[in-house]
Amino acid sequence: MRILAFDIGGTFIKYALCNDNFELTEKNKIPTNAKQGGQVIIQRIIDIIESYENIDRVAISTAGQVDSEHGVVVYSTDNIPYYTGMMVKSLIENKTGIPTFVENDVNAAALGEAHFGAAKGENDFICLTLGTGVGGAIFLNNKLYKGSASAAGEIGHMVIHAGGRQCTCGGEGCFECYASANALIKAVNKISDEPLDAFQIFQKENMQRPEIRSEIDKWIDEIIIGLMNLIYIFNPPLIVIGGGIMNEDYIIELIDRKIYSRLMKSFKNVRIERSQKGNDSALLGVAYEASKL
Ligand SMILES: [Zn+2]
Repeated sequence: MRILAFDIGGTFIKYALCNDNFELTEKNKIPTNAKQGGQVIIQRIIDIIESYENIDRVAISTAGQVDSEHGVVVYSTDNIPYYTGMMVKSLIENKTGIPTFVENDVNAAALGEAHFGAAKGENDFICLTLGTGVGGAIFLNNKLYKGSASAAGEIGHMVIHAGGRQCTCGGEGCFECYASANALIKAVNKISDEPLDAFQIFQKENMQRPEIRSEIDKWIDEIIIGLMNLIYIFNPPLIVIGGGIMNEDYIIELIDRKIYSRLMKSFKNVRIERSQKGNDSALLGVAYEASKL
């Protein structure tokens, strides 16, 4: 079976072919040009699909809250305008005739980790991604928990500071305002004389500066608070954390060093692990689901 899998993010659309062994080949990426809006983006996806031959299934991982049963984007922020309500599955199926599966990107990444990565063999786990914001997915009893309106798992908007920082969701004090990669970059750049990106922040010469190190440690403490809330609600055996910034060993090591002494006894069995499939996890997750259509 030849599956064409897409991952529609705010900045790039990544896509690849996937075979029966769930190996990704012919990986590609193009700018999303999100401001052009949902309609234009889906038309570009259709053009790409039509440029291939013998595609059996289409698999779409996308930003936004998704009703995966009907393949509809039920809600999207203004990062991608005119995307809310878009019937992605039926638009693609009607134009191409190819059965299509659509899922939210963090849910898709969780599916990828569940079937091929860090959560292989686990019936229950929580998945987090630290990036521009904080994404979340809840995997229970061997499947995604979607909630009553396909919106469950908005872990980034769990409120952890009353009257705290203003969030893009309209609320204040949300987890992602403190624990996202962006939150760290903002905090460090307030005190640094030259602008630093996430990679530069963790370079030795910067890590050795006490004022930067202190911002990193404060940021990790915020992550730990969010993790502890999740651990106390779900008592999960595993939490998987993804996002490019997790390549920095220091983060997972400090979380591991600090979190267990703070947890009540019955919760200490939890393992905190990095995503294994990284950027491929979302593509693999939707491809797996599409193969079952
Ligand atoms: Zn929020």
